[in-house]
Amino acid sequence: MPDTPKPPLPAGMFDEWPRIVVDTSRGTPHHRIARLATHAADHWALGPDGPLKTPQPLASTISGAVHEALLHLAELGLIDIDTDRLNAAKAIPIDRGGLGPKAAVPEHLSAGANAENCPACKGTNPPYPFLCPGPTKDTTHG
Ligand SMILES: [Zn+2]
Repeated sequence: MPDTPKPPLPAGMFDEWPRIVVDTSRGTPHHRIARLATHAADHWALGPDGPLKTPQPLASTISGAVHEALLHLAELGLIDIDTDRLNAAKAIPIDRGGLGPKAAVPEHLSAGANAENCPACKGTNPPYPFLCPGPTKDTTHG
């Protein structure tokens, strides 16, 4: 029985798949499992098939490390694969960034404000004299 209820499966292939909150803080089951997985991945990475002894592309290193970590946990019976869910899902998102809690979109200050103080201008390097253009009137971007 899982500690945390699972989110509902999406009805359609491209429907949103809501996330559940997972406590990853020190000492939680997630933290303990992550440490075990990290040790298994490190052990593989330092071994004969790992990138230090067998030069390989980054994608192969990631794939090898994840494979070893998940296999280690599965062989110890510490994780279960929910094959009912796996088979029932019409599509499974692979981009973690797309479905997480929505971050607040920064808004511009008033037009002419110092861009260095504007959260929406931050990092955009506007042309000198670094003035905020103000709230956008363009509605095509939502
Ligand atoms: Zn701005």
